Amino acid sequence: MKSIDTYDFKGKRAIIRVDFNVPLDENFNVTDDTRIRAAIPTIKKVLAGGGSVILMSHLGRPKKNNEEKYSLSHIVPTVEKLLGTKVEFAGDSWGEKAAQMAAALKPGQVMMLENLRFYAEEEGKPRGLAEDASDEQKAAAKKEVKASQKEFTKRLASYADVYINDAFGTAHRAHASTALIADHFPDDKMFGYVMENELRAIDDVMGNPQRPFMAILGGAKVSTKIVIIEKLMEKVDSLILAGGMTYTFAAAQGGNVGDSKDEKDMHELALNILKKAKEKGIELYFSPDALCGDSFSPDANTKECDVFDIPAGWEGMDIGEQGKRKFIDAIKGQKTILWNGPVGVFEFDKFAAGTRAVADAIVDATKAGAFSLIGGGDSVAAINKFGLADKVSYNSTGGGALLEYIEGKELPGVAAIRK
Ligand code: AMP
Repeated sequence: MKSIDTYDFKGKRAIIRVDFNVPLDENFNVTDDTRIRAAIPTIKKVLAGGGSVILMSHLGRPKKNNEEKYSLSHIVPTVEKLLGTKVEFAGDSWGEKAAQMAAALKPGQVMMLENLRFYAEEEGKPRGLAEDASDEQKAAAKKEVKASQKEFTKRLASYADVYINDAFGTAHRAHASTALIADHFPDDKMFGYVMENELRAIDDVMGNPQRPFMAILGGAKVSTKIVIIEKLMEKVDSLILAGGMTYTFAAAQGGNVGDSKDEKDMHELALNILKKAKEKGIELYFSPDALCGDSFSPDANTKECDVFDIPAGWEGMDIGEQGKRKFIDAIKGQKTILWNGPVGVFEFDKFAAGTRAVADAIVDATKAGAFSLIGGGDSVAAINKFGLADKVSYNSTGGGALLEYIEGKELPGVAAIRK
């Protein structure tokens, strides 16, 4: 496998799949540039080596071409500022203009393609099918888009001499720019630094963790975390289970959870997890109390409740005081910590204190020598909101990709480079 550190970029055009899927405000200003900053070292490495760069990314989930709100043109000024270099915007991805601009690129120059997901070919999924389309129509549409996906991929590949995948956040997708394109560069494909660092950090944590190893899982639902909980139970010494899933576990054990999130079809699985943890000798931590709100809103009235006894009309939206103390004590002394998912609705200030307490405890453990890996969009957003991003060992840029990698699945974007 080629490495970005040793590859000779002199006179070469590198097409880099970056993850510039960043949040924008209503005036299209970038509100969190973490992902752009993460990609800068890879871009600079190519330029310093005498190469030129074609950047490509998706942004949001456009359903058709040229949706203004999703144009990558909004990102260009931020990239220029962080990179310190002019970035030419192509305005499309596989039209004549992009091809001409790529052909004219000189060493040291950078250009950026338009949002790849303006084209159905990026994902290879048909668009605009009628709701009542027959199975045959669906199959025909799929066949058609798969065929034009080949052309799309070929066109992207034709712009460059070397392909770099630096988009860990989309590595779990088998899209044109994240996986398929790699086949056009059998001897000139490699990971960028974001990818290299992500894979190394996760491999270290999962393969050879310093013990004790604790995982902290929060977020909204058990259903999206079930596989990872089971996978992590093969590795960790202890597990904090928090966030919305607390209430499914409490309800499964006969608790009254009021209006809290309760996934009834997950009760059996929840009870199974409790049983398995006992058998394996894994310490499970739940918050005994909840900070409840009387509506799912930032200005809800609040009160603390026992998680097994939440009155109707109230829902658990954060951990309570006892939960905070319990979690802080449990985190103390850990040597490896993996955190995915906030323990409360941290986006609302009234319900952010629990997530803040957990973040502070992770920072303290890190200061005391632990390796802390913060994974998943929302935990990283929380760490950023609290201004603690540089006080943990590693912030993963990938949400779904991180979870799938930890679950042991082969990520198409990773496999395409390694094969
Ligand atoms: P996930 O993407 O599954 O990690 O979920 C992240 C989301 O979970 C965040 O937006 C939180 O607001 C939300 N969340 C955390 N705790 C709760 C809770 N107790 N009830 C509802 N949502 C929650």
